[in-house]
Amino acid sequence: MKIGFVGLGHMGQPMVKHLISSEHNVTVFDINKEVMEVPIAMGAKAAYSPRDVMEASELVFTSLPTPEIVEEIALGEGGLMEASVKGKAYFDLSTTDPDTMKRIAAIGAQQGIAVFDSPVSGGTDGAQRGSLCIMVGGDERIFREYRSILKLMGTQVIYCGALGSGAICKIVNNLIGMTTNLVLSEAFSLGVKAGMNPQMLYDVISESSGNSFTLHNFANGLFKRDFTPGFQINLAEKDVGLAVDMGKTLGVPMIISSIARQRFIEAQSKGWGKDAICGIARLQEEAAGILIEPTKDSS
Ligand code: NAD
Repeated sequence: MKIGFVGLGHMGQPMVKHLISSEHNVTVFDINKEVMEVPIAMGAKAAYSPRDVMEASELVFTSLPTPEIVEEIALGEGGLMEASVKGKAYFDLSTTDPDTMKRIAAIGAQQGIAVFDSPVSGGTDGAQRGSLCIMVGGDERIFREYRSILKLMGTQVIYCGALGSGAICKIVNNLIGMTTNLVLSEAFSLGVKAGMNPQMLYDVISESSGNSFTLHNFANGLFKRDFTPGFQINLAEKDVGLAVDMGKTLGVPMIISSIARQRFIEAQSKGWGKDAICGIARLQEEAAGILIEPTKDSS
């Protein structure tokens, strides 16, 4: 199949490799030309705009940082919808809000293209292994035609319901993951200040009720003082912000989430926005006057 991919960052880059390796005819575009080099070396064709990607493809994916950029790529000048789109499909793999996807899909419907929100979970490891959870909202019958392609990137491809349903599931999921990083920061700073080796805290908690996917990523980066993303603090602030904004629109109080968002904004103001999310723990380390760093003894 002729497949297009726009946005070859931490997630897009490993995802597109699975499509190229499966011998599909792939066309790519990113504003950062450097990240196009590896997919091109693997056999993908380079395009000069999102419009060119759509022109060359029957199916297009995007993996982009923010809803504003997704909308610009879809509907803006040189965007996907400027190409001939009739009978094609477009899946956005980014974390966006349902209203953005509905605006794009409404224009898409007028032009005859099926649009899907299909955000992903599982991080860069999951993207590399092709083991993401992909949550899809949109026309179920048309989705089923493309499910086998999505399965190349995700072992779990879940149809969530009407357009926007994937985005809602993803925002709810990420709210849990992001706020957990803040709780882990507080909890570990407390334990360390009280005299525990964080490695021992990790060993115990990972076998106890405090265990989570987030715990492993948090400890893995923080214990090595490795703040290379992965998943950036900027994206955490965006995702929690999407949840807080949705709460406002729907009349749902988002008290803890609002505080969480402020903590991510605080980290951004320190210049840590492009660091991995585990780096958020440094706010607590500074406040508590400790480092959450394993010591050699195991006590
Ligand atoms: P990223 O910033 O690493 O990658 C985004 C890519 O989009 C970059 O290569 C950038 O150059 C490109 N881009 C930006 N503006 C563009 C434009 N106008 N035209 C073309 N290309 C443009 O981000 P990421 O970590 O890969 O995340 C992508 C999306 O996936 C985000 O919505 C994020 O919330 C979501 N997500 C990320 C992770 C993760 O672990 N990193 C996990 C799940 C979901």
